[in-house]
Amino acid sequence: MKDMLRKLVTRVPREYRDEFFEEIYRHNLFRTIIAALVFIIAEMCIILFLRHDTYNTIDLIYIAIAASCVYFPVMCVIYRKKTASRTLRKTVSIIYACGLLVFFCAIAIVAQDQFGSINTYVMGLFGFAAIMYVRPVESFIIQLFLYIGFFFALPVFQHDALILDILRTNAFIMNVFAFILSRLVFRMKVLSFVDRKIIEQKNQILKEMITRDPMTSLLNHDNAFRALQDEINRAKRIGYPVSVIMADIDDFKAVNDRFGYQIGDQVIVGVAGIIVGTCRRTDIVCRYGGDEYMLILPDTFMKEAMLLADRIIKRVEGTELINGIHVTLSAGVSEFDGEPPKELIFKADRQLHRAKHSGKNRACFPG
Ligand code: GH3
Ligand code: MG
Repeated sequence: MKDMLRKLVTRVPREYRDEFFEEIYRHNLFRTIIAALVFIIAEMCIILFLRHDTYNTIDLIYIAIAASCVYFPVMCVIYRKKTASRTLRKTVSIIYACGLLVFFCAIAIVAQDQFGSINTYVMGLFGFAAIMYVRPVESFIIQLFLYIGFFFALPVFQHDALILDILRTNAFIMNVFAFILSRLVFRMKVLSFVDRKIIEQKNQILKEMITRDPMTSLLNHDNAFRALQDEINRAKRIGYPVSVIMADIDDFKAVNDRFGYQIGDQVIVGVAGIIVGTCRRTDIVCRYGGDEYMLILPDTFMKEAMLLADRIIKRVEGTELINGIHVTLSAGVSEFDGEPPKELIFKADRQLHRAKHSGKNRACFPG
């Protein structure tokens, strides 16, 4: 029973509410702009091509066209204005849509002596339900007021009691169907929006999975290379320096041999944490492979990169990792000097080898 009730109620999950309503008010505004344009053209055609001297609704049509001609540019401006508030968008589109509803209702009432039908009333109702995304409760209130207006205004133009009863009953049934349609349209919108959000979230997770190393959550090898290329391009454009640090844990094989691969993994994660914690937010830390890390440092000269490398090495040396393990780190530093990214990495790697060969637990730079 509870499940059935939940299915009947169309709710937008709280975390998406703002974004959802922002989107539907924008869609509603766009749809009413198109509706206004179609309405102006259609009504102009009626005036031009039909013999309207017999119509007693012509004045109403003129008023509606004039109102649409004013609304159309106003709505276009509001739609294009990015700063227009959500409330303004909502209000303008709802006022216009309700205006059209009242117009179609009025035509149905005023033209009773000529047609004796409620075709335009039904047209307005279903057009509104199909085009506008309106909350079920709002849709109910709008349609209720419309029906009450229709109910009490109809006898002014329709004097036949039997026809009056039939038209009121038909209008009531049409209102019920239009409400169901409006609710369905809104529900479909909510469901498709929520589905889209779920897909977006899953895509984000997948993207993270293919760009990041699952163990350390650092950028993986392929994306480290891409990130470096991006930073080099930006540096060329803006004209700031970029430095690279290649760092590698010393004698890591011995850690694996003594404590096992799993503890070795945790050491790699621990060192990654120290590096990330020592860098600036704008620096990009990547797991280049095995126990090797690459640091991309935008807006950083070699001297500053060297200071950072020393600070990281000191912190790693002074930190007790899992099971009381201490490791040390060696690093090589290079600064971008117009070469391709591969060469820049190679330059830092050469310095890393120098650091390894000159006793480890240190950083080296060219020169
Ligand atoms: P060096 O001071 O010259 O760097 O000596 P090293 O023992 O650290 O040698 P090297 O960096 O070449 O070896 C890295 C070792 O890291 C080899 C490999 O078994 C191990 N390794 C690579 N990836 C992983 C991993 O994901 N987890 C663990 N636990 N070990 C890894
Ligand atoms: Mg190593």
